[in-house]
Amino acid sequence: MLSDSGLFQHPHLFTPLSVNNMTSAPQPPEDRDRQAALFDTEPPPWELAAETEVEAAVVVFSENPHGPFHYKIPLELQGVVQPGMRLRVPLGKRNRGVIGWCIGVETTTLPARALKDVLAPCDDSPLCNDRLVKLVLWMSHYYQAPAGQVFDALIPAGVRSGAGTREQVFFKPSSLALDDAQVAPLPTKQRAAIGHLLVAGKPLTAAELALLAECTEAPIRELKKKGFLLAERRRVLTAQGPARMNRGYQTIDIPELTEPQTAAMEQVLQAIGSGKQETLVLHGVTGSGKTEVYIRSIEAVVRKGQQAIVLVPEISLTPQTRRRFEDRFSDVAVLHSQMSGVERHYHWQRIRNGQVQVVVGARSAIFAPLPQLGLIVLDEEHEASFKQDTVPRYHARRVAFVRSQIEGIPLILGSATPSLETWHATTTGRATLIKLNERIANRPMPHVQLVDLRTPGERTGGAISRPLQNAVKETLQEQGQVILLLNRRGFATTIQCPSCGHVVACPDCDMPLTHHRDGGKAVCHYCDYQIPTPPWCPSCRFDGIRYSGMGTQKLEMEVKTRFPDAKIARMDSDTMRRPGSHERVLNAFREGELQILLGTQMIAKGLDFPNVLLVGVINADSALHFPDFRASERTFQLVTQVAGRTGRGNRGGRVIVQTFTPEHPAIQAASQHDYKQFADTEMLQRRKYSYPPLGSVARIIIRGPLEETTEAFADTIVERLEAARNKLSSEVRILGPAPPPIARLRGKFRFHILLQAADSVSLGETIRQAVATLKPVAKDDIQFVIDIDPMDML
Ligand code: ADP
Ligand code: ZN
Repeated sequence: MLSDSGLFQHPHLFTPLSVNNMTSAPQPPEDRDRQAALFDTEPPPWELAAETEVEAAVVVFSENPHGPFHYKIPLELQGVVQPGMRLRVPLGKRNRGVIGWCIGVETTTLPARALKDVLAPCDDSPLCNDRLVKLVLWMSHYYQAPAGQVFDALIPAGVRSGAGTREQVFFKPSSLALDDAQVAPLPTKQRAAIGHLLVAGKPLTAAELALLAECTEAPIRELKKKGFLLAERRRVLTAQGPARMNRGYQTIDIPELTEPQTAAMEQVLQAIGSGKQETLVLHGVTGSGKTEVYIRSIEAVVRKGQQAIVLVPEISLTPQTRRRFEDRFSDVAVLHSQMSGVERHYHWQRIRNGQVQVVVGARSAIFAPLPQLGLIVLDEEHEASFKQDTVPRYHARRVAFVRSQIEGIPLILGSATPSLETWHATTTGRATLIKLNERIANRPMPHVQLVDLRTPGERTGGAISRPLQNAVKETLQEQGQVILLLNRRGFATTIQCPSCGHVVACPDCDMPLTHHRDGGKAVCHYCDYQIPTPPWCPSCRFDGIRYSGMGTQKLEMEVKTRFPDAKIARMDSDTMRRPGSHERVLNAFREGELQILLGTQMIAKGLDFPNVLLVGVINADSALHFPDFRASERTFQLVTQVAGRTGRGNRGGRVIVQTFTPEHPAIQAASQHDYKQFADTEMLQRRKYSYPPLGSVARIIIRGPLEETTEAFADTIVERLEAARNKLSSEVRILGPAPPPIARLRGKFRFHILLQAADSVSLGETIRQAVATLKPVAKDDIQFVIDIDPMDML
């Protein structure tokens, strides 16, 4: 079976997942029964005799039943049906025609009569090449998600629906047209049309053929009627892509590489030349020029006639990064979340046809169907947004690693604050560490001052301490710019009655509502439930209800009050709803029209503005007390990243971090820009509890409308997990079921089970066995989801 599927496993360890092995994998007994039930029971007598060899397509579905099921490929479709195509096949007793994904074509000796025929292919050519099909099967196995649903995640909806396409009729010659004796007696024009079609060697539309044969479409219609031409319908792309921005003859500065960059490039070029998979970790402090290394590496790949993928946490947040790639490559496809289906389809076709050199996008860009992929780059590889929180719940870093193995190409993971998973890989020889220890132009790292909020003398009654207040004032006087980070949106984070203690909460989620001043509403940040903020206590009618806790809206008000002359912008998901709003605010900030930019973690990432002389962190502890083993890591990353937004110009920069726990190791290490100190301390913690990267974790979330039935179902899962563990004698720790921190969400009760093991294979196998035949009773309306390598414990 599968051995270690750790992130940086050996390539041979997932070879069992080749298409053939996957499809012949034993089906759960229930699936087999179901498949048998789907077929006719009365075979024609001549087929009862013996098992015949048949050409079969293996098909999976995104809906239940998911398959895989075998279908016979009729003679006329042999050679046409290929893995990665969608096929129309009959399903169920009624032989309903449904669309599934072909994951393999094989010769099998199943009794031929037990197989139904493939009805028709839905695509002219596969939507996934063999390597992507392999990736789908790996994802389906590892993340325990139906392969059909993985395909749906892989192929954008706009591509599946043929957004921006039109159906057209194409003609190809029939066997009559190949027979000179039949063709000779035809009128000249018709003979000419056949001749041109044969010469063209590909199906043509009537208009195209008429043009070549210099005739009208009438002779072509005549040929069709006489059976010389066969018509076939195909979808063709009519959409045009967005007009390319013409940047005119503006010259682009191509910097000369620094010494550390040159050294880094040598290692990257060696990996690119090796023709093998290799994972390179580019650990470079903020502002050390990592992006330039990515660009040069991609240039090398493009020179070889190959293409590259660059994954970034969220492209709309970093228009600067986007522009840097567009400046340096002639054909960049930027995939972002605000694209229409038509745009997506347009890019997808260009990518697949090899017309794009570089794809830049968020996590799903890892599936870009580049024909000659030569390099994958993950920038800010530590970012939690690389994990998808719906099925398939994949992590783009792990998928990127597997894709780089399938393709045999290098993978670059870049960060100033690498995830501990990645760090661990470098210390155990599974990845190569490349360091950029210094900022460009020897700029010093900014000085970080910790402000202890427990000291009464430092407090001011608002969110901004005395030292921060003074620093902002000085910075504004020096014409510098300021970034302030507060990781909570809204105005007040709790609305509580001081008389009876009642907290205004979401009726569907049980979580406190946040007061938003714009529109005077109370909002649930988990489900977006909204009510007008109650003027008195809804429970006891006391009319002095209190708004406490600080969100970005309140911070904005405080900043405006304290610095009335400064121009301020707020960046959080409330102000950034409209497409292009990030770019507008960031442009204004770059142009110096704004002095203070405040916001949530959105402003912590990737921005490069030399005039930012001060960064203030309002509350460094906000992420620290989450019930999550990654709380320290997140805090360290957030503080380090936001601190990195300053000191990028010649005028230096400083950072003020407000905290109630200045002695915390994560905050100490961040204040000293000491990644290694952080990583070493944190690894000890992880080792103590066998948390990743020293072990694997999975989570099962169960939700349902009734607390008792939901919990009872969760108990059943635990019993099955225990049974599976005993049967496999695997060493898996099973915790729960317990209510998670968000015990109710959107009106559903929730329970979760946490699983831990030293290796991901026994963990995965235990879960797979436990849930193989598990199905909640339909009337209970209970769902469960399996989250492998969860990033979120709420
Ligand atoms: P990082 O991604 O490591 O934070 P960037 O790649 O954004 O760093 O580089 C920081 C700044 O330094 C950018 O403005 C970039 O254009 C500039 N830069 C990068 N490499 C060089 C170089 N070799 N010489 C001069 N400037 C450079
Ligand atoms: Zn809610």
